[in-house]
Amino acid sequence: MPQNPIDWHARAADLQPDGRLLIDGRRCDAADGASFDKHSPIDGRRLGVVARGMAPDVDRAVAAARAAFDDGRWAHQPPAARKKVLQRFAEKILTAREELGLLETLDMGKPIRYSIHVDVPAAARCLAWYAEAVDKVYDEIAPTGPNALALITREPVGVVGAIVPWNYPMIMGAWKLGPALATGNSVVLKPSEKSPFTALRLAELALEAGLPPGVFNVVPGYGHEAGEALALHADVDAIGFTGSTRTGRRMLEYASRSNLKRVYNELGGKSAFIVFPDADDLERAANTAAGAMYFNQGESCNAPSRVLVHESIADEFVQRVAALAPRFRPGDPLDASTEMGALVDESQLRTVLDYIESGRTEGARCVTGGNQALQHTGGYYVEPTLFDGVRNDMRMAREEIFGPVLCVIRFKDEAEAIRLANDSPYGLQASVWSHHLDRAHRVARALRAGTVHVNQYDEDDITVPFGGYKQSGNGRDKSLHAFDKYTELKTTWLRI
Ligand code: NAD
Repeated sequence: MPQNPIDWHARAADLQPDGRLLIDGRRCDAADGASFDKHSPIDGRRLGVVARGMAPDVDRAVAAARAAFDDGRWAHQPPAARKKVLQRFAEKILTAREELGLLETLDMGKPIRYSIHVDVPAAARCLAWYAEAVDKVYDEIAPTGPNALALITREPVGVVGAIVPWNYPMIMGAWKLGPALATGNSVVLKPSEKSPFTALRLAELALEAGLPPGVFNVVPGYGHEAGEALALHADVDAIGFTGSTRTGRRMLEYASRSNLKRVYNELGGKSAFIVFPDADDLERAANTAAGAMYFNQGESCNAPSRVLVHESIADEFVQRVAALAPRFRPGDPLDASTEMGALVDESQLRTVLDYIESGRTEGARCVTGGNQALQHTGGYYVEPTLFDGVRNDMRMAREEIFGPVLCVIRFKDEAEAIRLANDSPYGLQASVWSHHLDRAHRVARALRAGTVHVNQYDEDDITVPFGGYKQSGNGRDKSLHAFDKYTELKTTWLRI
């Protein structure tokens, strides 16, 4: 029997998200009762009230996290026990898939099909993967002389402050929580004020899964209030930050002004997607570039926002992308067939339209799109936009737009392609399209980026590290390498 499609609008009408803080296993209001209304970018409807966490709330959350860490209720459990709890946590996320997906879509505007089929499963898989990994990581014995034994062990850093952005709230949260909790840390998570609800719900599910109270606390609020208080807190041992390069810079200042806590920054990007004339399949290259650029309304740190195309094939490439654009026309995010949803808020809409205007003013050619869409809904939508004739020194090529704007920059030869790709303050990802493996490999090696794709862009897996060169950040999320951020190495000499 075919199942009836879910009526997401009816479900949305019934949803009453709880925006209170979660500290020491309990929901509570902000110390001074402060709160703000959260509206949905889909249609402007009021979604709920969110506690406006401030320094006293952060103090309470950090104190709870510290107490939980110090008494060993989580850190001292055997890895196999932590594994069981995290596995249950991952299962609970999957069980709550529809509720979490709906919350994510209402909160930040992405299409429901992706919240349900990408974001929720990716968050669950991340936690399940770290759960599986935790009892398979061994410590080391150094190759020293015969009269002593030097043990090199990993210990949790202690209290981790996790500060995440609004574009993938659950996945970004899971990328911090997975390795931090698996290695025995306590966490205080500060979600973005623009998309706070799923993080709060995740913390409830973690408690239901058996995570002891105090180990995972959530303080919603604004960056300059709750975020700053957390990053400045003298009892926080490490900050796992994902967000803009501008705020990442602040994280380093806060650490230097407080306790020199470890700061791991995962920041912005302006990734180059390079198409050489010997690329085997221009149609697939165009499809991949458009799909990756317009996915999540272009609100992805790793979006291929600078597409460098050899001048001999650029006209054909541009035509192909332009022909694909209608497929990504924005629509109702609660309709299961919608490919592109709403931008997160009005300020993001204004920012994107301003970059589009800057491209026109600086002499780039808007081939398709370039306008606001679906104004009657009360939400924030922009057409999938394609610019040709972009120069790498234009604002739209240098700065992160964070919207559905694909910029084509033409190049003459391999050396110029490499120079243009590397001529950016960012270095998150890149892609090289060429039939010849020697060229692909040569160019991939020359690119200053944390991830380089060859003849594709969509492969992704929790098993590989994710992070950037240059001002795209330091440290790596995902994979076993993420353990480096949340553990201290200790050497213990034993006389034998
Ligand atoms: P943002 O820097 O404005 O905010 C990120 C988080 O930091 C939010 O929780 C915010 O409240 C908080 N914050 C803001 N100002 C603060 C301050 N002064 N002190 C402490 N906390 C503060 O970024 P955003 O607009 O939420 O997210 C978009 C950015 O995130 C883009 O630049 C994108 O490239 C980046 N991003 C990077 C990755 C990655 O893995 N490299 C992944 C996703 C997003």
